[in-house]
Amino acid sequence: MAESGKGNEKLVWNAAMVAPNSYPEHDPATAILRKKSAPNKLIVDDATNDDNSVLSLSTATMERLKFYRGDMVLIKGKKRRDTVLIVLADDNVEDSKVRINKVVRQNLRVRLGDVVSLYACTDIKYGNRIHVLPIDDSVEGVTGNLFQNYLKPYFIEAYRPVRKGDIFSVRYGTHTAEFKVIETDPAVYCIVAGGTVIHCEGEPVKRKDQPKHLDVGYDDIGGCRRQMAQIREVVELPLSHPQLFKSIGIEPPSGILMFGPPGTGKTMMARAVANESGVFFFLINGPEIMSNVTGESEENLRKAFKEAEKNSPAVIFIDNLDSIAPKRDKTNGEVERRVVSELLALMDGFKSRSNVVVMAATNCPNSIDPALRRFGRFDLEIDFGIPNLAERLEILRIHTRDMKLGHDVDLEQIASETYGYVGSDIASLCSQAAMQQIREKMDLFDLDDETIDAKILNSLAVTMDNFRYALRVSKPAALRETSRSL
Ligand code: ADP
Repeated sequence: MAESGKGNEKLVWNAAMVAPNSYPEHDPATAILRKKSAPNKLIVDDATNDDNSVLSLSTATMERLKFYRGDMVLIKGKKRRDTVLIVLADDNVEDSKVRINKVVRQNLRVRLGDVVSLYACTDIKYGNRIHVLPIDDSVEGVTGNLFQNYLKPYFIEAYRPVRKGDIFSVRYGTHTAEFKVIETDPAVYCIVAGGTVIHCEGEPVKRKDQPKHLDVGYDDIGGCRRQMAQIREVVELPLSHPQLFKSIGIEPPSGILMFGPPGTGKTMMARAVANESGVFFFLINGPEIMSNVTGESEENLRKAFKEAEKNSPAVIFIDNLDSIAPKRDKTNGEVERRVVSELLALMDGFKSRSNVVVMAATNCPNSIDPALRRFGRFDLEIDFGIPNLAERLEILRIHTRDMKLGHDVDLEQIASETYGYVGSDIASLCSQAAMQQIREKMDLFDLDDETIDAKILNSLAVTMDNFRYALRVSKPAALRETSRSL
């Protein structure tokens, strides 16, 4: 394995120096010879280990599909995405499922519960060279040598298959950096082994240029099962199969109004709907389109709808709907009145163009003009309340799943002590606890040093005390009068 890069030390490894010992039964040569081409569909489940290069199947499934431990498997996801992984046996996996980690799911554009197909990978070669670049925000402030600290240990650990265009994450201490595979030679898939040259020079890849699917998905939202089920039912079908509604002669639902206190996941939900169904997402922030210049607010609204329609299928999300569409008889503002009328006209006009769904969010549904809440406009209303105990626990699990936690951390206990916290409060509690862990270890590292000793990095783990500290210093964003039953 070698590095190529300006100013970097040149390293040449030969195959003998690299021990592919993590996957002992893997032998690419025989994997290529075995032909197993029947497509096999399995349901995606979350991985228990966090390896980007593997998928786990039960022994029974492996036997059925005639895979052997260490085989290379081609796995196909959504939107024509596929990648190659090494198969491992794990009898905790159900026979109908395959376990892959979040990074792989993002590469395949699939979520938990989606179906993927598996094929024997019969034509993978050892790589001559690959070019990888870090994702900009994942290495911000990282001062050490990326090749030495991240890439070299990652590829030495095992023979890893890579696919052009894929992203992979590499952990160094508590920090996780992400890299994108820009080029691969000789083919779009190859195995990085002893003789593969790894180039990593070049400007980091911009996160914002990456497909939106890397964004939030359904499994990032906790404690909203009921709301999610309702929304998915009415949104996914019209977006993906508008012809269904046309041929049966009914109008698909045109708008969904989500209401509830700030920080309960309404915006996340709208983004997740767009990401998961792979459609265009258009955000309209209520107050931002308002203007004092006559006619400009309506024009802004029209432009936004037009843009979304041009890119349809699409989800239009209007945040703070109450600020642009207050009850017309209660407002003195001429602008608001005109904007409400414009919005009504736009939504009515959209009826015939069924593959645009309008979602809106508000904290105060009762101040919205009633004409908007009628059938054919925002005809589905969904309540995002303050989460109860079980829902808080689900949200806590989501926000700590990528964290290194100490053995004493009791998430159930934390959930029981966070009465009144909404999703955003829990997210900030978790980052406060992590920050406290870093503060505690501050005097162990020398800030003048470029790299931090791996031992110190490995010793970082968020403890129950850190959570206790975070609980003391954080309070739910607002004191609220109502709450769902505990
Ligand atoms: P809203 O639109 O209801 O004001 P957001 O969707 O903007 O709330 O949530 C803000 C942040 O709070 C999110 O980015 C996320 O980190 C966290 N959050 C809120 N609700 C949830 C939830 N139900 N599950 C997980 N995280 C949540």
